[in-house]
Amino acid sequence: MFEDIPVDVGVIYEGERIRKGNMQIELGGPKQPAKFEIVRGIPMDEVEDGKVNIIGPDLKDLPEGGNAPFGLLIEVAGEKFEEDLEGVTERRLHEYLNYIEGIMHLNQRYDIWVRISKKSFEKGLTSFEYVGKVLMRLFKSELPFIEKIQVTFVTDADKVKELLDKYMEVYNHRDAKARGMKDEDVDTFYGCTLCQSFAPSHVCVITPQRYSNCGSISWFDGRASAQVDPKGPIFAVPKGEVLDAEKGEFSGANEAVNNKSLGAVERVWMYTGFGYPHTSCGCFEAIAFYIPEVEGYGIVDRGYRGVSVNGLAFSTLADSTSGGRQVDGFHGLSIEYMRSPKFMSADGGWDRIVWLPKEIKERVKEFIPADVVDKLATEEEAKNIDELKEYLQKKDHPVVQRWTEEEAEEETEEAEGMETMGTMVPMSTATMSAGGFKIIFKNAKIHAEKVIIKRETSKKKRR
Ligand code: SF4
Repeated sequence: MFEDIPVDVGVIYEGERIRKGNMQIELGGPKQPAKFEIVRGIPMDEVEDGKVNIIGPDLKDLPEGGNAPFGLLIEVAGEKFEEDLEGVTERRLHEYLNYIEGIMHLNQRYDIWVRISKKSFEKGLTSFEYVGKVLMRLFKSELPFIEKIQVTFVTDADKVKELLDKYMEVYNHRDAKARGMKDEDVDTFYGCTLCQSFAPSHVCVITPQRYSNCGSISWFDGRASAQVDPKGPIFAVPKGEVLDAEKGEFSGANEAVNNKSLGAVERVWMYTGFGYPHTSCGCFEAIAFYIPEVEGYGIVDRGYRGVSVNGLAFSTLADSTSGGRQVDGFHGLSIEYMRSPKFMSADGGWDRIVWLPKEIKERVKEFIPADVVDKLATEEEAKNIDELKEYLQKKDHPVVQRWTEEEAEEETEEAEGMETMGTMVPMSTATMSAGGFKIIFKNAKIHAEKVIIKRETSKKKRR
């Protein structure tokens, strides 16, 4: 099937990493403001089956070791092809491009990041023609609802920008489709394991109100895909019994993640970042990260170039979040999920969000409750935790109420502690143990009205 392609093609190359020193060229990625990939269904007579178009320099004409703007448009036609299949067909690009020896594909839609290795370039992978041929053959052989297909590669910066502006409307249209539906209204969710090549225990559970982490697959997309390809990587998940409506625990989702992660993940709570949160692969659009100092979540998205309010960049936070794990307080998510009424609802929803980049705030603004929208800090109001605390206090953000409650609890504990510990600890050398901590005083003269040693309980932080 790929005899005329100068490199190998196969599932064994999925997950291949291409480091900077080994790359011939990088396409899209963080250095490029505009990039995209998209699949569109168009009328049969508008597709020239097997055609590869290249707008801008081809692979062999791009600077070695450099970075180029990138757009990838796949146009398909078929009697059974419907609009709902565009999103899931598009997501297959992640798999199929990664099947090609010496190609690494990350992320999706307007965030794509592709690298071609020097080794494969030297083997002859010098033109997008080859990449296009592989994609078209894989799409047609694996997705029988595609009868005709043509591919366009774009490396011309102006054209990439022009087409991205156009296709942003398509992405927005897709995202808006499931809005208004409720998880309570359906008895089937959908699961996806497409990212298991990079995060083997990761399973997305896609509900009407919890969009997939990558932001590419809605409940409707999942349904369409599971109907045409029920044995594929996107499958139906019978909801089963509601075990916890607030946290979003369903017996069917537990069973599905358990099976598909081969037992690595036993339970999933859909609407919280604590306990048994939804797993995070690596291609999430954004991360919600808990900030213990203010008892709220910050959010940082993949496109944000600065450091977030806790001093860490997206890439550093992503390391703590990704890999298909369930990590308390580090939660991968999509932008569309931020528009959902179920967004982190078990943790307090938007009342619990304290900081996010301005650009993302603008994108989701109309979905943030009116009484809290002006209380959320961005990089313009707070660049560190001290500034954040001050801002939240000034704006009387809902999390401030939690601090007051906690202080009241601390005062009660202090009063109780005074009765049992006394108020004066004279000592020269002494050892004290309290709450699992050992404190050694050497040649110390201490006079204190009270000494309180407390262990921070995580329970308090997770309300
Ligand atoms: S993030 Fe989830 S829905 Fe998206 S491709 Fe990966 S597994 Fe599938």
